[in-house]
Amino acid sequence: MRIGYGYDIHRLVVGRPLVLGGVDIPCEVGLDGHSDADCLTHALSDAVFGALALPDIGHWFPNTDPDIRGIDSRRILEKAIHEAMVRGWMVGNVDCVIIAERPKISPYLDTMKESLSATMGIRPDQVGIKATTNEKVGDIGKGHAIAAHATCLLLRLDHAKDV
Ligand code: MG
Repeated sequence: MRIGYGYDIHRLVVGRPLVLGGVDIPCEVGLDGHSDADCLTHALSDAVFGALALPDIGHWFPNTDPDIRGIDSRRILEKAIHEAMVRGWMVGNVDCVIIAERPKISPYLDTMKESLSATMGIRPDQVGIKATTNEKVGDIGKGHAIAAHATCLLLRLDHAKDV
């Protein structure tokens, strides 16, 4: 087994869509970034890359590359899963935390689990996602940004049949 951990944060700005876990969330503000700025999917991708002891997503998808402007971040997660598979690893489970003061995230958690599990080729019951606020503390608490943490457990493919 191998474990990985990832973290990401993006600023909330007017005039951008809000995408978390590949799910469009209606909101008057959205996350700013070179890609779709989906900080949950970025944190999860980095957890997978980290479990493989590979470089982070900035190595694979540089934010200076005009070809990936506005990219659906699920393509980044697919790349991470591909790198795991070719090395003989599959995802056992993942667990994530979204930290957002606004909007209310909990109505979208099940849809995010379906989206991310489909992207990773695993079942929704292998994907944990929780959402919390920052109790109005700091920039996240003031609604200036959304952050996400993620962990990932990888299993050797030849031991994965019981998952
Ligand atoms: Mg990011």
